[in-house]
Amino acid sequence: MAKLALLGGDPVRTKLFPAHNFIGKEEKQKVMEIMDNGVLSRYLGVWHEDFYGGDEVRAFEREWAADYQAKHGIAVNSCTSGLYAAVGAAGVGPGDEVIVSPYTMVASVTAAIAFNAVPVFADIDPDNFCLSPDSIRARITDRTKAIIVVHLFGHPADMDEIMEIARAHNITVIEDCAQAPCATYRGRPVGTLGHMGVFSLNYHKHIHSGEGGIVVTNDDRLADRLQLIRNHAEAVVTGREVDSLVNMVGFNFRMGELEAGIGRMQLGKSRQLVARRRENLAYFNRNLPTIPGLSIAPVAEYVEHSYYVAALKYDPEVAGLSRDMLIRALHAELPETEMRKGHGPLISGGYVKPIYLYPMFRQQTAYGDKGCPFRCPHYTGEVNYQAGICPEVERAHEATLISHEFMQPSMTTDDIDDVLKAFGKIADNIDILRNAG
Ligand SMILES: *Cc1c(COP(=O)(O)O)cnc(C)c1O
Repeated sequence: MAKLALLGGDPVRTKLFPAHNFIGKEEKQKVMEIMDNGVLSRYLGVWHEDFYGGDEVRAFEREWAADYQAKHGIAVNSCTSGLYAAVGAAGVGPGDEVIVSPYTMVASVTAAIAFNAVPVFADIDPDNFCLSPDSIRARITDRTKAIIVVHLFGHPADMDEIMEIARAHNITVIEDCAQAPCATYRGRPVGTLGHMGVFSLNYHKHIHSGEGGIVVTNDDRLADRLQLIRNHAEAVVTGREVDSLVNMVGFNFRMGELEAGIGRMQLGKSRQLVARRRENLAYFNRNLPTIPGLSIAPVAEYVEHSYYVAALKYDPEVAGLSRDMLIRALHAELPETEMRKGHGPLISGGYVKPIYLYPMFRQQTAYGDKGCPFRCPHYTGEVNYQAGICPEVERAHEATLISHEFMQPSMTTDDIDDVLKAFGKIADNIDILRNAG
């Protein structure tokens, strides 16, 4: 039996895992083409034909919308910008509540605050880590204006039930699809299951343009409002028919031509890249050695997961080993990935801590120093951000192992075998490790 690296033995592997770089000749060629014509952005922030941006932006929007079976695509400079624009387009404002998961990247929550609305946290379904319809139902009030559903880790939320709740209460549903490009729910792509869907093209996502994002919708009115908020709405409403001035305070959320051009090339590769993630994860799951208390997070049979993150469930009580000790043992066996040297581990514990535990919520200070939006005089509710409000999120945070890396398209079967060997060594040495802890 090989001795654990944590206890002085030889590690399974020292050679760095391959870099995950999927920018290739298509992107380079496209960038050169745009550089040669010299138009790096063609937006004008007034009512004009260039209000909608340049050729690359418009082509990117058309192609993305077609790929996601959506009527409209509205390119923006990040998913964060897209979420802000979506909340604005939904007409959310002071006094309103927006239901959101606390187990997400923080922009899904700040999008509500940006329009002076109060985020109300609902709990997750522990199987898929996404908002639980029952918890949403329990949080609805007559102030609920929108729900931001995050398809966390690439697993779609239970959208049929969530849309049923939303219809009954006339609530707008925004899907945060940053982690779920190419994911499907009952055969339909994410993004248009709700009223608006927002994707990310940030460097860390499945496909990227450095920074970037896009919103999809089938609703003409919402598409129009999104375009206005993206590009200086207040200056554009003059000379153009706009049915409501609510939230027609515009931003500059415009995507440039280079990012749009790169985004088009990346979109063309997205299915193949996500398919590789699925294959890698399937191989990993088939061959994962048995460690007591460790199991693969389930995937509903009616979804196609896109594996932004691979999640494993871990019960330290059953294992007789703390999660921290398990992670330390895995880290000792395995190297990092090229290009990420010094950037931390291949495998970590939990995702983000529940967002209601961030200082903004603890102290209820966001805009100005008067407690807005939480104690805004227009807000008639009383929001609760105490520890314990979302027990499943708190449990998931404590009892999950996640990795952003071992399913990446750059990983070969040999690379994944090394990851599996590290788990195998721990399985073989579990008694020794328990005693060492
Ligand atoms: C990455 C991410 C975002 C933000 O995306 P940006 O493009 O970086 O603004 C929003 N929501 C979720 C769930 C994310 O993972």
